[in-house]
Formats: sequence, C-alpha cells, structure tokens
Amino acid sequence: MPSPYIGRFAPTPSGYLHFGSLLAAVASYLDARHHRGRWLVRIEDLDTPRNIPGATEHILRTLDAYGLHWDGEVVWQSERLALYQHVIDHWLATGQAYHCDCSRRTILAHGGGYPGTCRERGLPAAPDHAVRVRVESQPIVFRDRLQGEFRQAADDLSGDFIIRRRDGIIAYQLAVVVDDIAQQVTDIVRGADLLDSTPRQLWLYHLLQQPAPRYLHVPLVMRQDGEKLSKRLGSAPLEASQAAATLFRALQVLAQEPPAELAQAPVGDQLAWAVAHWQPDKLPAKRQIPEPRT
Ligand code: GLU
Repeated sequence: MPSPYIGRFAPTPSGYLHFGSLLAAVASYLDARHHRGRWLVRIEDLDTPRNIPGATEHILRTLDAYGLHWDGEVVWQSERLALYQHVIDHWLATGQAYHCDCSRRTILAHGGGYPGTCRERGLPAAPDHAVRVRVESQPIVFRDRLQGEFRQAADDLSGDFIIRRRDGIIAYQLAVVVDDIAQQVTDIVRGADLLDSTPRQLWLYHLLQQPAPRYLHVPLVMRQDGEKLSKRLGSAPLEASQAAATLFRALQVLAQEPPAELAQAPVGDQLAWAVAHWQPDKLPAKRQIPEPRT
C-alpha cells in the first residue's frame, strides 16, 4: 500500500514570515491537503545566533491568520539535539564521519570544495572541531516534480560536508533529514533556493538507508531589482489584517488562476477552492520569478 502523504513547512526563525516564504507554505499546504495528507510545521531554530526574538511567534500567528492550520504539535529542532547527536556519534564510530579543524580560510585557499584534508587524520573530538560526513564519488540524480531531472556530480557536493559546525551547532543538512525521516515526511515542497542542498540531503538518506521523499521546489520570488526576497533582506513581515488580499496574490503568483470573485473571500474559502483546484503543473517551472507588481 502506498504510504499516506505527509508534508511539512519548516521555517527558520531568522526573520518574520514574508511573501516569499508564504508561497512555499501555501504550496506545501495545498499539495498536502489536495492529497488528503497531513501537513506539519517544524521550527528550524538550530542556528541560535541568527534566531530573531519573536519570529517564531509571528510565523505561527501569521500561518494561523492565513488559514494554514497544521496537524499535530509544532516541532522545535532546538528540543531535538540529542537525536542529531546520536546520528553523529554513530557515524563517528563507524568512520562515516570525522572531525575537522580546517579553517574556512584554508579551505577557500584551496579553491572549490573541501579537499578531504582531515579525512585520514583521526582527529579527536575537541570543542572547536567540526564534524564532516564522507561523500563517495557517485553522481546524485533525482527528479523534482516541477523542476525536472536534477543531476549533480558528487564533486559538486563540495566534498565531505559539515554536519556539526565548529561552534557546535548542528548543520541544517543533517537536522532536516533526520527530522523529515522521524516525522515520516513523504513530500517536500519548498523554495528553489534549496534545490542545491537536495543532493547532499539525498546522500544522507542513502547513509541512513531510508527512502527519499518526493521533492517539489517552487520558484523563488525575486524583487524587481533582482535581489532575493529573503528574510535577511528585511522583506516586509506579513500582516494578519491583509491576509485575504495577500493570499489571493499568492495563489495568482503560484499560477493557480483563482477566480476574481475569490479576491475578497475569507482565507478559508480561498484555500478550500485552491485545495480542490490545486494544479502543481501550472506552477512556473523556474527557479526564480519576479515579484508581482502591486
Ligand atoms: N528551514 C529552511 C528555511 O527556512 C527550510 C528547510 C526545508 O524546507 O527543507 O530556509
């Protein structure tokens, strides 16, 4: 029997919810609900220096105001450190991962990816040692539901990559995979800025001997001047009071062609229409699209 659909939205609270992240949230919500699946929310708050006070509350409150109601309890990565450490310890014990004391400067001086300097050095654990996972040279190929076939030679994965940083922070690449496996996520719908991370994540699925999820990477909205609408660039936080108009705009940008009479409808009615009429193949199959003009 095919496994039931489980999707998720996994924001990082390094900023408030803005229009670009709303698109990813709406697309993953619609895809999950259209498949009568579950839709989870996970707060990716591991990079503590980058967390902005109040961002998590704003993100959750805004999702709620936009009618994007999630299933079950919200999961916080900061409460799951032992789980990630367990995987790291296991790989250190099996030799699949190793400690590394290279500075960013020495790696940059080498040019390109990580040259494997510490692979055979057998460095002990130390407070300022990073942990890297070994990557074998095999090309990683996957088919994105929207972007099509994506192929990356292992050399382009930048070599053995970091799973625990020198400052002790667990790397996103590891945490996201461990959690998606633990939460039995079958379908990942997220922004196309993460397309390049997917091969590294697929490598970790391979090491953990778990089936990979399906992926759909929605285009990123770029500002008219070509800059990414990222939280760090300080894009305007979404206002709950503008929910109906902004959601309608999001459905238009996702090329779902909502009927004009829905523009003033409550968010619940807009979402009900969009779930019933969800057509992911209408999404622009691009990595980037321009911000809509208002
Ligand atoms: N936490 C990541 C971000 O906000 C998204 C992770 C994911 O969807 O895989 O960019």
